Amino acid sequence: MKPLIAGNWKMNGLLADATALAEDLKARAAAGGLACELLVCPPYPHIGPVADILSESGVQVGGQDCHNAGSGAHTGDISGAMLRDMGCSHVILGHSERRADHGENDAVVRAKAEAALAAGLIPIVCVGETAAERSAGQALAVIARQVKGSVPVGMAAERLVVAYEPVWAIGTGQTATPGDVAEAHTEIRRVLVGLVGEGAEQVRILYGGSVKPANARELMAQHNVGGALVGGASLKAEDFWAIATSC
Ligand code: PEP
Repeated sequence: MKPLIAGNWKMNGLLADATALAEDLKARAAAGGLACELLVCPPYPHIGPVADILSESGVQVGGQDCHNAGSGAHTGDISGAMLRDMGCSHVILGHSERRADHGENDAVVRAKAEAALAAGLIPIVCVGETAAERSAGQALAVIARQVKGSVPVGMAAERLVVAYEPVWAIGTGQTATPGDVAEAHTEIRRVLVGLVGEGAEQVRILYGGSVKPANARELMAQHNVGGALVGGASLKAEDFWAIATSC
């Protein structure tokens, strides 16, 4: 399976910024020949216009979160079916900013992942330890606990993406060492075998945390790394494209 390079635009930019970025990516994608799949996850109000621009480009569009219910009285939330209806193929779930800002725990993330799958989306389930947990030597245990608690059991491996994002590396310019990344991804793969069976080899495990053009190639070359989840560098088409062409 091709690596997946996913851009998380977070809560950045206005509609004109999102459409300009999408137009730029569309123009670059027109040349073809990328060795990876490309995905962008805009803020909700920009998903429709971005999906329209990218519809024939091969660049996929995803959401940054969805609710675990199909519909109902959940003011301010959005369902997996709504994302699918807007043209999304994927949804990021359990990002550390959601876990911190909205108190999302593993059970909530798993329920959201189940809802996303039911809606026909591929969940990108995020896990990762804090700096304190790493200093205490608990990084692998935390990652294993989050994967066990957040990933739906017995699901089809090709419908799942996991992202390892050490919290201390997100938006800080600090990147995990290639060795730490390889170790964490090997642990995630080991836990996935228990959850999805032999197909676990097919699950793409993305690395996220200050990925940029200068470090992407080395990170992507690590064992069990199946792509990247990119925050800040995905807001500049030139940088995102340089990462995509590092695969
Ligand atoms: C992210 O938020 O998922 C992320 C990895 O951000 P950044 O690339 O900016 O560290």
